[in-house]
Amino acid sequence: MPEIKAQPEQGLHKVLDKGFVRLIEFMGGDQRAVDSARVSFGSVSKGEAQDKKLVEYLLANGHLSPFEHSVFQFHIKCPIFVARQWMRHRIASYNEISARYTEVQDEFYIPEAFRAQDRINRQGSVRNGALEQEKMLAIYDRAVKASYEAYRQLLEAGAAREMARMVLPVSQYTQFHWTINARSLLNFISLRADEHAQYEIRRYADAIRDVFMEKMPWTWEAYAKLHEKKNH
Ligand SMILES: Cc1cc2nc3c(=O)[nH]c(=O)nc-3n(C[C@H](O)[C@H](O)[C@H](O)COP(=O)(O)OP(=O)(O)OC[C@H]3O[C@@H](n4cnc5c(N)ncnc54)[C@H](O)[C@@H]3O)c2cc1C
Repeated sequence: MPEIKAQPEQGLHKVLDKGFVRLIEFMGGDQRAVDSARVSFGSVSKGEAQDKKLVEYLLANGHLSPFEHSVFQFHIKCPIFVARQWMRHRIASYNEISARYTEVQDEFYIPEAFRAQDRINRQGSVRNGALEQEKMLAIYDRAVKASYEAYRQLLEAGAAREMARMVLPVSQYTQFHWTINARSLLNFISLRADEHAQYEIRRYADAIRDVFMEKMPWTWEAYAKLHEKKNH
């Protein structure tokens, strides 16, 4: 199976140090949600103002199936620990590069800075000026390089790719195709662009939110308004 290569074309949003989000294809849009809702009562578009109101009504009242007719297909490149959180979102389709078929590249996520353990949110992290960044980054860099070196040595000694990869860390970059409908994507954005999500996946969710806003502006506007209300 050939390696999935990044295609530096339009629609590529760079994320973290080596990752990206790229929209491959989009089907549907705000009008599709409106049309799919109106098919229930055998009616068609009633003009922009009425259609926008309908989108707001659907979201506010949990009538979310009309949004399932709009579909986004993305190509994602992210560290494995981000992909692991990502793939918990089951209402979507995934195809990922295989480290059994292909040799893993020397591509690891190198954070700009280490964060300290958050003492209030036990899952979270906080910026802390007291951390010795240079020292921590040197420890990290050494570990990552050593694991990649071990990977190469195992391959050279005759180990199968599927076994040599076992020494690689979760900071290794992976790539996958992700197809998801607008309803499920709103759920992803709401959970992963939120401040409770880990910083790294949040950066991806922000890029995906920008794509969503561009492709379905009415839906995004109505969704954002609704969330603002809920949070006040
Ligand atoms: C900040 C944060 C911290 C997290 N921490 C942890 C953690 O510590 N440990 C952990 O294991 N996970 C953790 N998760 C993952 C979380 O529990 C969800 O698995 C993940 O966010 C996917 O959400 P989802 O189920 O809504 O999405 P999807 O899987 O895409 O599902 C979408 C919706 O479909 C419905 N649905 C899907 N599958 C089922 C089902 N089997 N039965 C009934 N309804 C279903 C639900 O309504 C669901 O909301 C965390 C997530 C976040 C955002």
